[in-house]
Amino acid sequence: MRFAPSPTGLLHVGGARTALFNWLYARRHGGVFILRIEDTDRSRSTDENIGFIIDALRWLGLDWDEGPPTSGYRQTERFDLYRDHAARLVRAGRAYFCDCPPELLEQQRKAAEASRETFRYSGRCRDRGLTAGALRLRIPDEGTTVVNDLIHGPVAFEHSQLDDWILVRSDGTPTYNFCVVVDDVTMGITHVIRGNDHLSNTPKQILCYEALDYPVPEFAHVSMILGTDRSRLSKRHGATSVQAFRDAGIPADAMVNYLARLGWSHGDQEIFSRAQLVELFDVKDVASSGAIFDQTKLLWLSQQHMKAMDGGRLAELAEPFIAKAGLTVPRDRAWLARVVDTLKERTQTLVELVEAGRFYFERPRDYEAKAAQKLFTDDGAQRLDRLIKRLGELGAFTPEALEALYREQTAALGLKLVDLAQLTRLAVTGKTASPPLFEVLALLGRDETLARLRAARNSIGSST
Ligand code: GLU
Repeated sequence: MRFAPSPTGLLHVGGARTALFNWLYARRHGGVFILRIEDTDRSRSTDENIGFIIDALRWLGLDWDEGPPTSGYRQTERFDLYRDHAARLVRAGRAYFCDCPPELLEQQRKAAEASRETFRYSGRCRDRGLTAGALRLRIPDEGTTVVNDLIHGPVAFEHSQLDDWILVRSDGTPTYNFCVVVDDVTMGITHVIRGNDHLSNTPKQILCYEALDYPVPEFAHVSMILGTDRSRLSKRHGATSVQAFRDAGIPADAMVNYLARLGWSHGDQEIFSRAQLVELFDVKDVASSGAIFDQTKLLWLSQQHMKAMDGGRLAELAEPFIAKAGLTVPRDRAWLARVVDTLKERTQTLVELVEAGRFYFERPRDYEAKAAQKLFTDDGAQRLDRLIKRLGELGAFTPEALEALYREQTAALGLKLVDLAQLTRLAVTGKTASPPLFEVLALLGRDETLARLRAARNSIGSST
């Protein structure tokens, strides 16, 4: 199996899904997964883009058995191989040189267009026995080549619709389709899973395998990913690069789960761990129709994965986002694990999680205005004074002890629990909604809780 990106930009969800399907197939069947960089388009391929693709694959956890940084896995490093194979085809009489001038070909192309026909090379140089020029594959005039696609079933291509395509240009550079064949052959690729935008290349490639007398691999062409308007997914539909989702705080396992479900299904199950995907994935279960990219579902899956994660793991994933938000964790990882446990029910991404938990890392800078108007009154000030005193005296600062104290105080004051709870919540978090209050207070600890209650008390002034 291989993933063969062209490094002309970031890794997009379509490419990532192709990589994932190949990876899953290889891992399930104990095969070898190779990363190959198709960088023959030198004007658009950059080292920076290769770096982005590698980062994104690493983040997704799609490890490869062969490929960069080992050399020899970039097409620009493999020109000798292409040359050798071209020479082989010439020797076997399966390819021939052509010196048709570009103007002539252009003229013929235009003529074909004018009569609404597919342009096919005329075959003018087929039997001229030239020894230089562009190298073309000699394909049979008649018959059909059938792609036995694992997803779409047999797809037949009439040879009359194909032409003697160019393997090597007259300047000596190999063409894209030729490189792909030579690479897949020399890398021992047995299964090719790729986007169905490549389906029309496949009969050409199969004819080249046959000309080289190599076994043809199995092909599976995965349908394109569509936007909600059913047109092919593009930037118009919003973020499409894997990096953008990583930066938005989608956990990698959720992203992998979501990508797998873009076209593949297993009954009506939605949530899969990586191990389950490896165990269950079969390319035959990939739908032949296009899959719609649904952000809402991705976010839902992200939440499901975060909820199912243990606090320690979630804390580890949250740490870079906490730093990115300019916050620092005041205590150890075990504390952070408890903190994120209180937040994970309510948030869909790691970015949201950090935002919702901001108050754990810094004191509120202000208070929700409407609530402050209602709660930070003279009565509120008196209640805060009382709470500050009692909390200072409380033995163990645990959620249970805190709850008992609040119940006792509300009863003594003839109030409802919510009255004191909302007052406290606003004072310590600045907001009227937060994770369960007593857990929050216990996590902040006595000193911090008291400091925040005092600050809130002071903001009311000493009018009593
Ligand atoms: N380099 C091609 C692409 O990025 C993939 C070709 C293939 O998988 O055969 O679309």
